[in-house]
Amino acid sequence: MSKGKRPASKKTQAKHGKSQTWIIMITTVVVLVLILAIVAIVFQNQKHSSDGAKGGGDGAIQYDHQPALGAKDAPVKVAEFGDYRCMYCRQFELDVFPKLKKDFIDTGKVRFYFMNYTILGTGSVLAADAGEYIYAKHPEKFWDFHRLVYENQGPETEEWVTTDLLVKLAKQAVPDLDVNGFKWALDQGTYKDAIKKDIEMGKAAGVQGTPTVYINGKMASDPLDYNQLKADIQNALEDVHD
Ligand code: CA
Repeated sequence: MSKGKRPASKKTQAKHGKSQTWIIMITTVVVLVLILAIVAIVFQNQKHSSDGAKGGGDGAIQYDHQPALGAKDAPVKVAEFGDYRCMYCRQFELDVFPKLKKDFIDTGKVRFYFMNYTILGTGSVLAADAGEYIYAKHPEKFWDFHRLVYENQGPETEEWVTTDLLVKLAKQAVPDLDVNGFKWALDQGTYKDAIKKDIEMGKAAGVQGTPTVYINGKMASDPLDYNQLKADIQNALEDVHD
């Protein structure tokens, strides 16, 4: 009986030997595939960050389909994330923006963008919706309307944003406004997806409050201090020319 056992045991050993070779081969293949997958992921991530750098920023800010002012080929892009009910955004619009426009936008150095970042309730969203409507239907009148809303801003403690006020301001900016279409868009929240997109982009870029301003994708340290903002923009212009 013991004679008969030996060959059987050798057979088993041979079988074990074969299956071990298979396990090693499969493991090697799996490890190689994993390594290749990791290399591919790392390469892809590097590609994304260099794409962002090519755009001059961190890649989070998408400028397409946003209200823009200034030369299309301006070397520096300045993007403001704002809320029409925010008093500091009003300060930016009325005190800082005219200087920025005169020094950099009108001279072809900066293209300026406005994105909605609604943080102060339903009035903020209603005003943002109105802005998106004007931009969609009368893009050339957007900045007039934008300024009018800030000029007519009420106290933050009051819900001063009403459809009636927005109609009044929109008619001032766009004399031939389709009032019913405008009201309908406000009632329906037609541009809520556009606003949501702006907010998600702001969050991805690191917006914490309003106004937050990006200069070629880099957050400005203090947008309400024009001298600081001016220095930041000049630095960005030098970076572009380097
Ligand atoms: Ca927008």
